[in-house]
Amino acid sequence: MTLLKVANCPSCGKVFQKNLRNLCQACIDSYEHDFNACYSYLRDHRKAANAELSNATGVSESRILGFIKENKLLLSQYPNLHYTCGSCRKPIRQNQLCADCRCRITRDINLLKEQEAKKLERGTGFQIRDRFQR
Ligand SMILES: [Zn+2]
Ligand SMILES: [Zn+2]
Repeated sequence: MTLLKVANCPSCGKVFQKNLRNLCQACIDSYEHDFNACYSYLRDHRKAANAELSNATGVSESRILGFIKENKLLLSQYPNLHYTCGSCRKPIRQNQLCADCRCRITRDINLLKEQEAKKLERGTGFQIRDRFQR
């Protein structure tokens, strides 16, 4: 006898038999249904933006973001769809972060590097001795 592997569905919390999608059948159905709704709306309205698509289909914007992030809806085909910056949630269409956040992070990294370099200049001798003692 094989034991059925069950888990709580991460989307609705119901106990379900584990499968490749890691969602219960009801959630898979609703996911497919929502995707099809978005897909067919976009077929007629290629230039729809996220909010319009959400209003027209009744699919939540966060689920639409999911479709885009999973590359089920391709930004290359829909000029006004977007996903959000991983840091500040601003709408973007390329990279993981918006230009502002990328700029800020590069600056922070450079600052850290500078600080590290200064620390090394000041304390190399001491740090080496320190390490030998341990
Ligand atoms: Zn579920
Ligand atoms: Zn950002």
